[in-house]
Amino acid sequence: MTPKSTRRVDFGWGLVKYLSMASVVIIEDDAAIRGLATRALCERGHCVWAEATGFAGLQSVVDNQPDLVVLDLGLPDVDGAEVLGMIRAVSSVPVIVATARDEEAEIVKLLDAGADEYVTKPFSGLELEARVRAVLRRSEVVETSGPLKVGGLSIDLGARTVDLDGDRLELNRKEFGLLAHLASRVGQVVSRPELYAEVWREPYGGGEKTIDVHLSWLRRKLGETAARPVYLETVRGVGVKLVDPS
Ligand code: CA
Repeated sequence: MTPKSTRRVDFGWGLVKYLSMASVVIIEDDAAIRGLATRALCERGHCVWAEATGFAGLQSVVDNQPDLVVLDLGLPDVDGAEVLGMIRAVSSVPVIVATARDEEAEIVKLLDAGADEYVTKPFSGLELEARVRAVLRRSEVVETSGPLKVGGLSIDLGARTVDLDGDRLELNRKEFGLLAHLASRVGQVVSRPELYAEVWREPYGGGEKTIDVHLSWLRRKLGETAARPVYLETVRGVGVKLVDPS
């Protein structure tokens, strides 16, 4: 993901402005709301791609790698909650869900499914922009707090990269998710159901084998095995923990 940054914008005649801008994909089928949201964010200097359907929006997220997504839940081609799941399958980009369904249970479900924030309709441009800034501030903390260090491991949550003793590891999305979650609780045993809920974001229904397979791939990339652990220690019947071998 492209990190949000302060960009130097040259307006000519020696006029240079430093704007704190973000790139945003808006997915909204209602033309009036889409226009309002686009204008509100463009006026603040954000760079906006606006799409009217779920699939076009998803394509735009993949193509443009935005800093943030504003997602309407009621879309004509595919339910917004499903679009959220598809975005989460390929990206950790912050998502603000725009919903007319302001029931608490629905909102909690969406936040659990990986939404970062929500805004209820009807909303003003000012309100949307304030939510965008709030979410960007939160994601900035992750980006600027630097990589997590565990022994010779360096895990950069913002860039989604992992280095081991200075060498970049090629991890797939699940392997990265497992390692990042374990790294957030170094030295503590994490159960398989918790790992499954955090990384797969699905209810735990016998995903034990899936986790074990991904853990064994991760171990191989870390240069260890379950029998000879270095970073990943299995605690029989409980779960697994990331330890600092030094
Ligand atoms: Ca709609």
